[in-house]
Amino acid sequence: MPAPARSRHRLAHHALAAAVAVLVAVPPLARAQETPTQRAAASDVVKRQGELEQRINAAALAARLTAAPNAKRDAVVARAKALWDGELQAMADDITRHPEVGFKEERSVTILTDYLTRHGFAVEKGVAGLATAFVARYTKGTPGPNLGIIVEYDALRGTVRDYHGDQHSTQGPIGLAVAVAVSEFLTASKTPGTVTVYGTPAEEMMPPPSKTVMHQAGVFAGADVIVRTHSSVNSQRPAPGFGTCCLNIDGVRYIFSGAPAHQMTAWEGRDALTAVIHLFQNVDGLRKNMRPETRIQGIITEGGKAPNVVPDRAVADFYIRYPDEVYLAQVKAMIDNAARGAALATGTKVMIDDYGSMRDGISVAALNEVAFAYIKKYGGTNVVNEPQKPQGYEETGSVSRDIPGVGFSAHTSNGGFHTYEMESDALADVGHQGFRIDAMAMSALLYDFATDADFRTRVKDEFGSTKSLFGDYVAALRKAYPLPDVKDPSK
Ligand SMILES: [Zn+2]
Repeated sequence: MPAPARSRHRLAHHALAAAVAVLVAVPPLARAQETPTQRAAASDVVKRQGELEQRINAAALAARLTAAPNAKRDAVVARAKALWDGELQAMADDITRHPEVGFKEERSVTILTDYLTRHGFAVEKGVAGLATAFVARYTKGTPGPNLGIIVEYDALRGTVRDYHGDQHSTQGPIGLAVAVAVSEFLTASKTPGTVTVYGTPAEEMMPPPSKTVMHQAGVFAGADVIVRTHSSVNSQRPAPGFGTCCLNIDGVRYIFSGAPAHQMTAWEGRDALTAVIHLFQNVDGLRKNMRPETRIQGIITEGGKAPNVVPDRAVADFYIRYPDEVYLAQVKAMIDNAARGAALATGTKVMIDDYGSMRDGISVAALNEVAFAYIKKYGGTNVVNEPQKPQGYEETGSVSRDIPGVGFSAHTSNGGFHTYEMESDALADVGHQGFRIDAMAMSALLYDFATDADFRTRVKDEFGSTKSLFGDYVAALRKAYPLPDVKDPSK
């Protein structure tokens, strides 16, 4: 669920201008910070991030790996391309034509896992308690780098029909081409290493964020690197550092219970809907005391069944967003108290159901630059040379904080995200060519990761150092948002 590219560009340019004004030497990380408070808290971290990027020198690494001739790599890439052209493009078209929404992707999962089983993978379905999540482990691998591939397959819920307006339908077949080409190479060349495909459902739905649930259940444990692809309106990569496409988010349901009664004798009951209405009014009243970047949106999902019965149950569902998780926690505490106040004021009770969150992820230049160089090498179009806002390779931020990885974004559509045009493009040349390029670039990068120890060392170094810098940034933010001192009242 990436933000529309145009708004992402605008964010990037705005922040870049500020960054250049403050610190000419290292703009990339500065662009992760969206507010003056964040930029001030990050000043030391930005400087050290610049030093880290110089040490890693991802541009030189990408040039070394991608520009030089390499017959073995080219053979792996050619195999992935042949698999795509021979069978997997048709599979992608088929899944696009049979959209299934989150947690109901049974047909898509069966198609993908049957293929993986036929190609030497041991498939485990229903992992982490999610019926349409799966893990497929290559059975002939030998101990060595564990190469992970995340694939998604859920469609969007449309008003007319469900549809693949984010092209998740194609991620599975692309990932399969990569998984089979790379695993065959590992076996044939006796190269240490193995491949694991992670089938992650319901990217477009929260609750629950399925990747977080799977991560907490230990599904991704042992992966040394994870690759993932996503539809894109251009060929691009994020800047290194940490961040997210679309603010840090808390998803929370406020569930109120009251007591039913006839509305003509409502004093005999307690009205849960009134409590929900109070909550919305309380939130609106608080907005002026919150930093202006705060975004709070709520809907009422339950508000009673009949106008002649005092509603004894009402539920509001909120997304609470802020550019960083530290101030977000303060906002969340205020909204929770607004809900408690609403319950107290109406004689009802409230349960606070924290069902999901999205957080900043970690972005690794040593992986991003190699991926981007391969996308260009294999013919990616609409190339955006300026690195985009830093973000993790998966939307929850939970996995990308613990395991280094990279999202591949070749140009696959001329329509916007979540549109019917993007779905049509999945079946057209622009999609087919972009998907093939993604499959080739991903195979090449995993080949390099399996065979080049220096590449692995740099990825590990950059990831570990960035994670520690991110910790320092969060610690600095904690000091940047002091709570006001509210005195005890006196007569
Ligand atoms: Zn998506």
